[in-house]
Amino acid sequence: MTTVTSHTDVLVIGAGPSGCVASAYLNKKGIKVKVVEKNHFPRFVIGESLLPRCMEHFEEAGLLDVLMQQGYEIKRGARFTRNEQVCEFHFDDKHGEGWDWTWQVPRADFDNVLAQEVLRQGVDLQFGAAVTGVAFDKMGNSSTTVHHEDGTTETIHAKFIIDSSGWGRVLPRILDLDKPSKLPRHSSIFTHVKDELRPAGFEGCRISFDILDKDTWLWIIPFSNGITSVGVVGGTTFFNGLVGTNTQVLRELLARFDRSRDRFATTDFLFEPVILKNVAQSVKQTHGKGFALTGNSAEFLDPVFSSGVTFATESGLLAAKLIAKELNGGAIDWQKDYSDYISRGVDVFATYVKEWYSGNLQKLFFAPNVNADIKRQICAVLAGYVWDETNPFVTKHDRVVKALAHVISL
Ligand code: FAD
Repeated sequence: MTTVTSHTDVLVIGAGPSGCVASAYLNKKGIKVKVVEKNHFPRFVIGESLLPRCMEHFEEAGLLDVLMQQGYEIKRGARFTRNEQVCEFHFDDKHGEGWDWTWQVPRADFDNVLAQEVLRQGVDLQFGAAVTGVAFDKMGNSSTTVHHEDGTTETIHAKFIIDSSGWGRVLPRILDLDKPSKLPRHSSIFTHVKDELRPAGFEGCRISFDILDKDTWLWIIPFSNGITSVGVVGGTTFFNGLVGTNTQVLRELLARFDRSRDRFATTDFLFEPVILKNVAQSVKQTHGKGFALTGNSAEFLDPVFSSGVTFATESGLLAAKLIAKELNGGAIDWQKDYSDYISRGVDVFATYVKEWYSGNLQKLFFAPNVNADIKRQICAVLAGYVWDETNPFVTKHDRVVKALAHVISL
């Protein structure tokens, strides 16, 4: 067995959106960065509906131009439906500044475009390279063991590690950082379909969330290539009671949704539906001496407001910026500048997730005559602008949704 040793300033684990944004930014700033990715791309991953806020991250990392050339389906808002009730949000009618559109993307292709662009820009990104061990010294310098497919073992010495390993959760596992999420336990089943009965025009291409009951809902995410992602999310107890193969389970669940029953009744599933149980993840800390956790490796809330990729790119970019500053001699307060900042946004979305499943947010969404300003403020949150201190639905998130739902119920 061959063992090699290498040195870099920053080692990034994982080449998903978080790792790509982080490494592209560091490379742009002239910092020596190496990315190790255990898979070969294109590889499937779920998380296909983006939020406008993440467009800023791709832009700042120098990755937006290549994405613009791909012709992905444009997402200008979101539609929520419950029986005959419909609630729509349009990102061009939101509180505050910021992007008013984004994309719905098949992630295998999207992530591959990002990774190829990162490579083209000169980043040392290696596929088929899995991290199996990490050790830190007192100064935070790390030695990482990487197994390459050709049987080579590499020891990578780095001043800093960005763990963007998503569901791989490399450092949370190795350093025992996992902690149970405070959110209700939810699970999901999903696949892609050839959407032959897709309605024509705008109606057919917009994302929708169809609600079966307070806990259970269906996503429909059409892509520009004629394929549509469908997935049902519900309580884990509900999922545990479902019987049959994954295909039978998803067919039976889709038939429960009146609005989309006919559209998906006979369509072929393009792959055996996947079930993921208890999707929420959390950690005890998101940084430590010599490392930062970004994206899903740090925290995942729930699929309901499509916040995953945006948190992945927000945290990847921020970690990269702070590391660049530190390596250039700047002083960084990682608790304040990284962990507390990321937590503020996570906490806002966590409230919306909790209040979605408590029923309060659904009450608000489907209430007749909701004040236009309130709707704009909620819309800005749904666009990912969860750090905007001018928005009361951000700053008072823990009170305002509950209070308004209470008023509506009176
Ligand atoms: P990933 O995209 O998972 O990338 C991590 C990479 O690390 C992978 O390529 C992996 O191969 C690599 N890796 C793992 N272990 C190792 C190792 N040991 N060594 C080297 N490399 C390694 N988000 C949205 O924004 N919109 C949605 O609509 C949405 N829907 C979702 C639906 C469901 C059911 C679920 C569960 C999640 C959903 N998400 C959604 C969340 C989304 O999937 C993630 O938040 C997002 O993919 C996180 O990106 P990332 O870059 O952190 O990780």
